[in-house]
Amino acid sequence: DPRLPRIASTIRVIPDFPKPGIMFQDITTLLLDHEAFRHTIDMFVERYRDKRITVVAGIEARGFIFGPPIALAIGCKFVPMRKPKKLPGEVISEEYSLEYGTDIMEMHVGAVQPGDRALVIDDLIATGGTLAAAIRLLERVGAEVVECACVIELPELQGYQRLGGKPLFVLVKAA
Ligand code: IMP
Repeated sequence: DPRLPRIASTIRVIPDFPKPGIMFQDITTLLLDHEAFRHTIDMFVERYRDKRITVVAGIEARGFIFGPPIALAIGCKFVPMRKPKKLPGEVISEEYSLEYGTDIMEMHVGAVQPGDRALVIDDLIATGGTLAAAIRLLERVGAEVVECACVIELPELQGYQRLGGKPLFVLVKAA
């Protein structure tokens, strides 16, 4: 697909952010190019429009950029998966491990119902720990996770192995 190299070319790599040794994949430069941004959304919409998805779950913060236009285009609800203490209503929480320490992801109770068919969206999969926490939260409330989708994968980290067999769809594999 000729759109893929176009999308890949707009992603900026910033060395040593947020700390030395990290090559940060920056999607804000993709957003500056409205054609590349549109191609990105279109490719997800083409894949998911006929998959009977009933909820797009977007992971804070960059899943909030890509998730809503996909949800609007395929005609389903958008649910934010947030960092702790951000959501005002009753939440369920899931702890997950980071490189150093742990973090917590939260979702509003009642936003996702038993029988919902979920697509989980984030900008990037590294170790897969973040997507795995989102999958656990969605399954705890009775949803079926149909697929996880990211703009970028860091394939060397083999994060898909932490997704419990759930399919992963990515547009760009970073070197
Ligand atoms: P994981 O849990 O190790 O897969 O890390 C993925 C999470 O960290 C996602 O929410 C990403 O937004 C974020 N992340 C890790 N590395 C990068 C990067 O290079 N660019 C943008 N986000 C990143």
